[in-house]
Amino acid sequence: MSGWLVVAGLGPGAEHLVTPEVSAALAEATDVAGYIPYVARVAERAGLTLHASDNRVEVERATHALEMAAEGRRVVVVSSGDPGVFAMASALFEALEARPEWQALDIRILPGITAMLAAAAAAGAPLGHDFCAINLSDNLKPWALIEKRLRLAAEADLAMAFYNPRSKSRPEGFVRALELLREACGPDRLVTFARAVSTPEQHLRTVTLAEATPEMADMRTVVILGNSATRRVGRWVYTPRSAG
Ligand code: SAH
Repeated sequence: MSGWLVVAGLGPGAEHLVTPEVSAALAEATDVAGYIPYVARVAERAGLTLHASDNRVEVERATHALEMAAEGRRVVVVSSGDPGVFAMASALFEALEARPEWQALDIRILPGITAMLAAAAAAGAPLGHDFCAINLSDNLKPWALIEKRLRLAAEADLAMAFYNPRSKSRPEGFVRALELLREACGPDRLVTFARAVSTPEQHLRTVTLAEATPEMADMRTVVILGNSATRRVGRWVYTPRSAG
């Protein structure tokens, strides 16, 4: 049987948010590779080998997955959320650039529900008008570029979703991001902290930028900042579809 490689998004956490095509690929796989907590979400079964690795070795993981597919294995590389959002799909294509002989392999990217969309749905509709998504980790880009993007997004009055807002190894960045946003957007702008969305630990809270503190976010939180029109209605928060 000829091998294939699927890069799949497992969604934000809940089993019922895994798409049927991702479940079908996992059911046919001989090998699953990914970051340790994501591989832990895949049920073990006879004939399936799990390859869990650390989160700093994405291109190595992708190269290994391509090698296995080239040998005839059926490989699923798993990401949380959507694999194209700050995740494994780009790492796969980086690996493929370095090894053109693998470009003829049967490769498919299967979408998943990304954290900001699951969080927005739980909160109401804070991304109901134009928005952008920014990764606040400076592992792969300089902090100055993050600040520039935050300033310009604020100037454009975009709602913003922040991934990887704050980790133990870089606690300072989110402090600076909040300061910059408070200055650029004013103290009354609404911001939603959505933690562990769709899991039993899900916790959402919406506050103003004046009330927001860095400790409200961790690595299991996606942060959604509204635009200038974002407002509360009942227990929800939403952004109107029209500007101005
Ligand atoms: N590919 C993933 C994002 C990977 S980056 C996706 O599309 O969702 C990891 C970051 O995603 C986390 O630091 C957090 O900001 C966010 N995230 C992932 N799952 C989440 C969840 N269930 N609830 C809240 N945020 C989540």
